[in-house]
Amino acid sequence: MSRVTIRDIKTFILKPGSVNLIVVKVETSEPGLYGLGCATFAYRSLAVKSVIEDYFKPVLIGRDVVHIEDTWHLLNYSAYWRSGPIEQNAISGIDIALWDIKGKMAKMPVYALLGGKCREYATTYRYADGDTFDEIGEEFQKLLDAGNTHIRIRIGKARGSFGGEELPVGKYQGQEGLKYNPALYLEQLIAVMKFIRREFGTKAELLHDTHERLDPQDAMRLAREMEQFNLFFLEDILSPEQGSWYQIIRRQVTTPLAMGELFVNPKEWDYLIADRLIDYIRVHITAIGGITPAKKLANFAEVFGIKTAWHGPTDVTPIGHTANVHLSLSCINFGIQEWAGISKIEEELFPGCPEIRKNGVYANDKPGLGIDFNEKLAAKYPADNETWLNRWQMRLPDGTIHAP
Ligand code: MG
Repeated sequence: MSRVTIRDIKTFILKPGSVNLIVVKVETSEPGLYGLGCATFAYRSLAVKSVIEDYFKPVLIGRDVVHIEDTWHLLNYSAYWRSGPIEQNAISGIDIALWDIKGKMAKMPVYALLGGKCREYATTYRYADGDTFDEIGEEFQKLLDAGNTHIRIRIGKARGSFGGEELPVGKYQGQEGLKYNPALYLEQLIAVMKFIRREFGTKAELLHDTHERLDPQDAMRLAREMEQFNLFFLEDILSPEQGSWYQIIRRQVTTPLAMGELFVNPKEWDYLIADRLIDYIRVHITAIGGITPAKKLANFAEVFGIKTAWHGPTDVTPIGHTANVHLSLSCINFGIQEWAGISKIEEELFPGCPEIRKNGVYANDKPGLGIDFNEKLAAKYPADNETWLNRWQMRLPDGTIHAP
């Protein structure tokens, strides 16, 4: 094939479910050859679109599609100041699309370009949510019946405490945000874990996500309390700003620790890995710049005996989920894959989505990422930029704003 160059770049913001998704399409000089990327930063979608279309596109038109490493660094350095979720998600949209193009050119799935399959499927964890013990128990049973082996327990639909008059968690109160009571949260979580182990024994591995909102003192206490439940891992017990506390917590607890969904920069994870302070690295791959840095991160973690657990929430396009799966299949130090699920509408919008079967997710074996995007159908799901202005607001009972 003669030299293939970037002919055009298009950015789509759509809202087929509860969040804005950002899709990037890189078209090439080769008729019919294009790649798809995920640049979803739901809370600043217009800014990401502007970075791609107003700043990246003029630089990229006419460039060779093959040199992904060079292109990644070109974009990373192009504004002199670097990093941050807007910039990295914009880079990710281009990066993932270029891997998709390269796979199509090579007539190989992206996982093959990344070293090939280490496994047939990526084991997933799903969520048992609820506002009461019984609701969580029912969800847990449903997941077991469907064949799941790893289940994350979440109290309150909005990941806070159980609802109630005093704590209307999950119900937005105008400008008041979510109410969060740390003491009540810890008490309820411990009680729920006891309930789940009593009702279900060891039928599934248990996980829990504290969503980076604990103060370090509470994080230490919780990690110790969780030892009795033998968790698969405890997720994000500290905010990125307080990561140094892992050095203290690590010496005192045996609960496996996972961290990283808010990370955007290697300086946030390098010491956690090199000092073996965590067990699972779980970055949001579009927030660090796509497949290129994620593969390097996985290899770096492998050296230190740390496994991957890529972030897989609803604010990722099926293209981003597919990129996660291709990485999970091809990294020897894969740990587990978070799986929030792909909706029926998303399956229509993105033909070729990875397939979930029992406790794992499978990629199709088509060239590239093996997933497509129905632009015409996407026009029926326009972006919503208003309800995202104040999406994350959490407050303590006395009104103090708190990390969400
Ligand atoms: Mg999380």
